[in-house]
Amino acid sequence: MAVLTGAGVSAESGIPTFRDNNGLWRQFRAEQLATPEAFANDPELVWEWYDWRREIIAAAQPNAGHLALVEIERRVPHFTLITQNVDDLHERAGSRNVIHLHGSIFVQRCLRCSRESSGPRPPKCVCGGMLRPGVVWFGEALPPEPRFAAEDAVRESDLLLVIGTSGVVYPAAGLVYMAKRVVEINPSSTPLSSRMDERLEGPSGEILPRLIA
Ligand code: NAD
Ligand code: ZN
Repeated sequence: MAVLTGAGVSAESGIPTFRDNNGLWRQFRAEQLATPEAFANDPELVWEWYDWRREIIAAAQPNAGHLALVEIERRVPHFTLITQNVDDLHERAGSRNVIHLHGSIFVQRCLRCSRESSGPRPPKCVCGGMLRPGVVWFGEALPPEPRFAAEDAVRESDLLLVIGTSGVVYPAAGLVYMAKRVVEINPSSTPLSSRMDERLEGPSGEILPRLIA
């Protein structure tokens, strides 16, 4: 079994999604900040936004949806959790086999030497280069390793659960078309809904525990 999660699975932990109403920071939309162009134009602004998001995520706790996925992993023989999230709530809940398609918000990467570090952000890399967030931005390619691992896991699984994703960010959303059977858990319908074998409508923090029960 494989699971694909998006920002919605962390919404009940108080972490804003990108496309729901609470997704704005100051007057900006995520698409105006999570891009290489935005960073080139105003790196300090983009870093301010990431620092703000880091603080929210660090203070947040896993919710009933994250915990239910840990329980499912315990019960299912082959289980892969693929997440588009840059937070660490799946790991903090106790999930083990987790693939991060879009990196981690707690990592920074040097624009000059590509060295990555995690933890508090220093002003510059040890080489003197400028640091950027270690995440995948809109318009950037996914790192090949997690991408291929995710595709393999989906193809080898008899079921893909798609949880809390708007389904508009590719190639992550494309995983749905590689699955044998797909079930969507989301309070709203998405462009992927018509492809689903089944839809469970509601917040993942309520639906997932019920699924186990
Ligand atoms: P999105 O913001 O585009 O969409 C969120 C989806 O979650 C919507 O379809 C919404 O209906 C659904 N949702 C809202 N509340 C929910 C709930 N309680 N239970 C289940 N579903 C709920 O998010 P996305 O599809 O993940 O894509 C945007 C990009 O945003 C990703 O690449 C990701 O890296 C990034 N992102 C990550 C985080 C995070 O790490 N927590 C937060 C915001 C954005
Ligand atoms: Zn460097």
